[in-house]
Amino acid sequence: MSDPLRVLVVEDSEEDCDLLLRELRRSGWTPEWERVETAAAMSRALGEREWDVVISDFRMPAFSAPAALELLQASGLDVPFLIVSGTVGEEAAVEALKSGADDFLLKQKLTRLASAVRRELREAANRRARRRAEAEKAEAERRLRHAQKLEAVGRLAGGIAHDFNNVLQAMLALVQLLRLGGPRHDLDERLAEMESHVRRGAQLTRQLLLFSRHEAPSRRRVDACGVLDGAGAILRRLIPATIDTRVERPAEAVAIEADPGQLEQVLMNLAINAADAMPEGGVLTLRLEQPDASRVVFTVADTGTGMSQEVLDHLFEPFFTTKGSGKGTGLGLSVVHGIVAEHGGSIEVDSAPGRGTTFRLTLPRCPSGAFAALPGEPAPRPVAPRAGARVLVAEDETGARASLLEILTLLGHRPCGVGSAEEAERLPADPGFDVLLTDLELPGVSGVDLAVRAARLWPGVRVILMSGYVEEEARTRAAATGAAFLQKPFDVAALERALAAALGGSEGA
Ligand code: ADP
Ligand code: MG
Repeated sequence: MSDPLRVLVVEDSEEDCDLLLRELRRSGWTPEWERVETAAAMSRALGEREWDVVISDFRMPAFSAPAALELLQASGLDVPFLIVSGTVGEEAAVEALKSGADDFLLKQKLTRLASAVRRELREAANRRARRRAEAEKAEAERRLRHAQKLEAVGRLAGGIAHDFNNVLQAMLALVQLLRLGGPRHDLDERLAEMESHVRRGAQLTRQLLLFSRHEAPSRRRVDACGVLDGAGAILRRLIPATIDTRVERPAEAVAIEADPGQLEQVLMNLAINAADAMPEGGVLTLRLEQPDASRVVFTVADTGTGMSQEVLDHLFEPFFTTKGSGKGTGLGLSVVHGIVAEHGGSIEVDSAPGRGTTFRLTLPRCPSGAFAALPGEPAPRPVAPRAGARVLVAEDETGARASLLEILTLLGHRPCGVGSAEEAERLPADPGFDVLLTDLELPGVSGVDLAVRAARLWPGVRVILMSGYVEEEARTRAAATGAAFLQKPFDVAALERALAAALGGSEGA
């Protein structure tokens, strides 16, 4: 009985290769082998199939063990590399081992080959198992975080739905007041009120979109104050009004290297726990301090129930919860712990029964300098509108399309509306359009695809993509096609600015 062994032999001498193979067979293997003696041949062999071990001669006319080792390392493959040589001195051997060869054997003493191969196979298997375990752990952590996030999104959605209903209630009441024939001189005032309700509704959906976006983690230079403010704004929505939420931070921006989405989640998880610990109300404090030039400290403190030593002992364990089933998942703090550790930070807890709880997170600070701004409002660009443009509106929501067409007509343009990309493509090529104003998501063919086709159908057409999706993502997709972007809901002023920019830009073309 013999085991197959996939051996790549790097060796110029056929005779020496035979010796090696004989030794391996004698030790119980059936070698599936190939002999190479140049870098090109070795590259090809490594790419063609998998190998259990590479056995290389030290010096060959057109190749060498160090060069072969370098090639193997560059390929990123984890295959044991043994050097077998008849001539080399000790110094070169030490060098080769230092640069990562697994063993060095003399041709005269090949009896050691079998045990060396066996040992290296075992170690390679261990490394593979370790890598698999690490990948599994990372995947489990990713899921854990996602589960936690969904929990928070769920709570947030509940809070927002509640506020949103209030917005809708106010809108409905105003509309019906007008229909019932309320005093006409109030009309302007009523309309202004309606507009402010709509803006408030837009803020609500924006918060939900921002928080629930599924972002790949990305560490960058951000303002810790901005992150704290962002978390504070979401928390005021999440947390019952019986709790007084206070945000204390330096007036100036504080640069840290962090993933803002993850950091926001850390603060949210801590604050939600704090709120849970204050069922009768209390004070929740979110604080940011800079004890020295190298660190920042986030504090999340509550005046709630506090914790016993027993709870403190298990605090960060996944699935550890003292909350009833359906209430707690026990994941919040293990996620906090994972994220803080990833950011090179540490956590301290100070708590006792009846005395409230304080979590302190210490994170490394960036050396002073510029940092990436958090997404904010784009500066308005005042441009004189050019009336009379031919504007194609592609929007599948009938109500939204109709009102856009009316507004564009009022602005002096010549709009035309379609509900899908196919409809748009059936339009005559002549006289064409100056601007395509399209929703990012159209039925069947997306606005992005339509934008690409529009450039062929109506040469010189400018594209404005509009979307109600989370701004950053949609903006990126729009930018990839060279189109401008309008975040829904937008007002007439924003529409005019976008049109003016698009038309202004086309004049030079
Ligand atoms: P969960 O909130 O789902 O129970 P966590 O990992 O977020 O899971 O928290 C684990 C436990 O730690 C909670 O069940 C609670 O007993 C305790 N805990 C966490 N934060 C606080 C706090 N601020 N005050 C009191 N107890 C807390
Ligand atoms: Mg929790």
